[in-house]
Amino acid sequence: MSDKMPAIDPEKEKQDILKAYKKLLRSTKRHEAKGDLKMIRKAFDVALDAHKDMRRKSGEPYIYHPIAVAEIVTSEIGLGAKSIVCALLHDTVEDTDLTVEDMRRMFGDKVAQIIDGLTKLSSVLDIQEDKSLQAENFRKMLLTMSSDIRVILIKLADRLHNMRTMDSMRRDKQLKIASETMYLYAPLAHRLGLYAIKTELEDLSFKYLEPELYDEIVTKLRDTQRQRTRFINKFSFPIINSLNEAGVDYEIKGRTKSVYSIARKMKTQGVPFEEVYDIFAIRIITNSKMSTEKADCWKVYSIVTDHYVPNPSRFRDWVSKPKSNGYESLHTTVMSDSGKWVEVQVRTKRMDDVAEKGLAAHWKYKESGRGTAQAQSAETGFDEWLARIRELLESPDPNAIDFVDDFKLNLFAEEIFVFTPTGEVRTLPADATSLDFAFDIHSEVGVRCIGAKVNGKLYPLSHQLKSGDQVEVLTSNKQKPKEDWLAFVVTAKAKSKIKQALKEENRRIAMDGKELLERKLKQMKMTLDRDLTNKLHKHFKVQTSQDLFIKIAKKSIDFKEIKEFIESTKNASKWYNVLRSRITGTSSPSPTPAEAAPKPKPKEKGDTIVIGDASQKVDYVLAKCCTPIPGDDIFGFVTINEGIKVHRTNCPNAINIRSNYAYRVVPASWASKEDHTSFVTGILITGIDDVGLVNSITTVISKDLNVNMQSIAFESHDGVFEGHIKVMVEGIHHLNNLISNLKKVNGIKKIVREDELDD
Ligand code: MN
Repeated sequence: MSDKMPAIDPEKEKQDILKAYKKLLRSTKRHEAKGDLKMIRKAFDVALDAHKDMRRKSGEPYIYHPIAVAEIVTSEIGLGAKSIVCALLHDTVEDTDLTVEDMRRMFGDKVAQIIDGLTKLSSVLDIQEDKSLQAENFRKMLLTMSSDIRVILIKLADRLHNMRTMDSMRRDKQLKIASETMYLYAPLAHRLGLYAIKTELEDLSFKYLEPELYDEIVTKLRDTQRQRTRFINKFSFPIINSLNEAGVDYEIKGRTKSVYSIARKMKTQGVPFEEVYDIFAIRIITNSKMSTEKADCWKVYSIVTDHYVPNPSRFRDWVSKPKSNGYESLHTTVMSDSGKWVEVQVRTKRMDDVAEKGLAAHWKYKESGRGTAQAQSAETGFDEWLARIRELLESPDPNAIDFVDDFKLNLFAEEIFVFTPTGEVRTLPADATSLDFAFDIHSEVGVRCIGAKVNGKLYPLSHQLKSGDQVEVLTSNKQKPKEDWLAFVVTAKAKSKIKQALKEENRRIAMDGKELLERKLKQMKMTLDRDLTNKLHKHFKVQTSQDLFIKIAKKSIDFKEIKEFIESTKNASKWYNVLRSRITGTSSPSPTPAEAAPKPKPKEKGDTIVIGDASQKVDYVLAKCCTPIPGDDIFGFVTINEGIKVHRTNCPNAINIRSNYAYRVVPASWASKEDHTSFVTGILITGIDDVGLVNSITTVISKDLNVNMQSIAFESHDGVFEGHIKVMVEGIHHLNNLISNLKKVNGIKKIVREDELDD
């Protein structure tokens, strides 16, 4: 066929290729349907022609590879005609001029879809390689990419054949492919219950990764073969006798551990080959009817343990409850006469097939059990199997996890992989929407996003994406971020960008609102100062002045209301000023005695009582309403029952006292203090509620300044926090010091002495 390689006899080669194809056909025998065979033939012809000028590294015609992959797909995985067709064609779209459209035209939607998946998969793996992303990513990719599990199964077959024929490759390529296989494909095969393939992939990878250890183990296995056979025979002999006597239909095998698992044991246990004790297991496979499977297995188990004592801690019953990937078997480890533990596996022929070939074999059995129309049931059986596998891949239940060990499926459940129109891959969290994708592309794309085409179809921004979707974002310059976008984006990036954009927008609106307010106030001959702003924002119960301005801009606060409020505060402060001037006018102490009042008996130092002076035997208490401390301006009030009560001159009750009972007021002052006695006083802290704020406050009070707290109470409303604290201080300097330290705490807006009306 090719004239580039004159040394090759084209006729002979053609014959050989046909031979390989015939061999493939023989292993597909169970696909009797005529249409299937026709389609397989067509696929073979198309692939043969498409790859006609291509050769593998080994020099053989390329077509051998797709034929071999197809054979693995059918005889080692047990897949049907469609998969054989896809396997034959699996490299055509990627490596030849044929397109997915050609596939669809010639073989229909399903085949086209699977081949498209396979092509995307390899292109993805290539992209990953270029960007040197971690294997982790592409492992997840492999799982999530494929809407049809057959994509993964054919990919596995492809990999297996490549691994089997890697000898003529460059060493560095061998190492790369072997590592990938060990890391990704072998666990994947394990996950899918394809034990035989998993084991072979591991052994082949190991052969390239650690050729010396591999050779050592292979040699030692060969050297100890006879000895092992002797041991197995001796061990099995009594069991065989009893099984025969009981009339069990069975087969018994000695199963040697794979090279790779022996190597792993040697490494994890740090022992030489000779000390790996469970190098082999005995497997007893019964030929059972479906109805007696379980009973047969237990019968065999009973016979085995008649002869050898089992180790209860190493007993596994996967017959009563199969593993999540369908594996069924009884495993027990018993003590042999020579003092060695031996693992015995008991299962039926069906179970053995399932264990080796995965669930495809399982469905094969189910079909024949039903005996329905072959082609029909083959299709349903297969679909059920696919559904089961997909379920397995998608539900990371704990049992499944313990089975896959290092195969962390929950990772994949949390992420999806989506394509840009140019085929670039983006990783997003599972619930991501088109809008998340848009922000992932660029925040400018995100804020202008009005919708997206997903796989060519138009969807709203909130559309949830699936792995494998191809997404084209639609934008408009008129678009602006909306508050409700936050409800359906899941990525941190989208959230923060939307919030940021909304904030900017709000800032702009607030500026407008503020300008509007200032204009209106100007008409009232007023200016907007800090005090008025604060009063307004308190009055209208909004959190910040920005919120106030936004409400004004959006007209949800009408200027009429503002005007009313301003008028009312003006009146209030007018009244207060009048009152205060009246009180201060009469506030000088004038101890005019009145009939009912007891006579105060202040001691020396003029008429002034001195607080804290022990020589003055004056009976006094410090008022609880204003909790005066040394340094405060104070006065005494002569009470009927409690002696002299000391208030601060700016006590909220002072006005009442001095205006109504001026004759009972006595001047008071503090004695200069030497002793460090403490006085209780209250402070009120207001601020923005924040995590850790309380902690910061108490730290400042008790640690930094060594002030004792007598009581502490915090309240929080809509993010605004109030703290009522009674502290023990020596005097006003001490307190002021404390207040100025507290003011440095982030989030604290205001600190005042806390006074109460009506003591
Ligand atoms: Mn291939």
